[in-house]
Amino acid sequence: MIGAIEAGGTKFVCAVGNPDGTIIDSTAFPTTTPDDTLAKVEAFFAKHPIEKLGVGAFGPINLRAGSENYGMIEKTPKIPWRYYPLMEELEKRLSVPVAIQTDVVVASMGEYEYGIGKHAASCLYITVGTGIGAGLVQDGKAFQGRNHSEMGHVLLQKHPDDAFEGACPSHGSCLEGLAAGPAIEARYGIKGAELADEDHVWELEAYYLAQAIMDYFVILSPEKIILGGGVMKQEKLYPMIREKFMELLNDYIEVEDVEALIVAPALNDEQGVKGCIALAAKS
Ligand code: ADP
Ligand code: ZN
Repeated sequence: MIGAIEAGGTKFVCAVGNPDGTIIDSTAFPTTTPDDTLAKVEAFFAKHPIEKLGVGAFGPINLRAGSENYGMIEKTPKIPWRYYPLMEELEKRLSVPVAIQTDVVVASMGEYEYGIGKHAASCLYITVGTGIGAGLVQDGKAFQGRNHSEMGHVLLQKHPDDAFEGACPSHGSCLEGLAAGPAIEARYGIKGAELADEDHVWELEAYYLAQAIMDYFVILSPEKIILGGGVMKQEKLYPMIREKFMELLNDYIEVEDVEALIVAPALNDEQGVKGCIALAAKS
């Protein structure tokens, strides 16, 4: 049995499953202090003995090869978790080897191994939620530079009619600052879910996401671009993004079937835990 933890900033999901991606049991609870949260993790895995554990964590997290603080949550605004040695603590408390990655990279691994990317050589998974992030998996491995990517913080051309200055504390109008869920809420003063019928909201959202996707596409050339996260529950975004992406690409690179390139996740919000299983199974 393999263990999985989707360690999110608002909730933790623990699961046990098989390397084929079958989930046997799972539980979820809110993320509170590290000690309380990890006590609940221990209680779950006491009932379900495991050989190894895969973790997809909120960040920023230290994934620098060879660092003595590898697997530590770094300078997060969630103060109790700041500089918390998550991987080391899990290894100590559960006495199993732990493989750790970012939350969006494990989502990418889940879709690559078991979901919409099953027959692709490379998948870029982009989450559009409280933040925006992306993870690339190629030939079964997560792309890893010196540390994990922060692809949500790319700079874009502002729409001439968009007066919103952007919500990113570091960059103002980067992609995350213009297009994550909290940016939509700050621009209009209403949550995205309540703006479902306002087409101009989603046209602007697609305008920003398509710019970033065009950049990721020319840089990385992924076979699948998977868009998930709370904001993508607005399904009308998919055709809008595809259309704007093709406009921006302007025939520079041939795309035979944009509907097969830019897609929704297939794993029903289980891509994270399933990706943790895949990550641990490979390690
Ligand atoms: P997180 O990124 O924290 O893991 P989610 O992926 O669920 O969580 O993203 C949460 C964000 O998505 C919030 O900003 C929320 O307003 C937005 N969101 C959730 N559901 C919808 C929806 N149906 N339409 C538009 N935005 C949504
Ligand atoms: Zn930013």
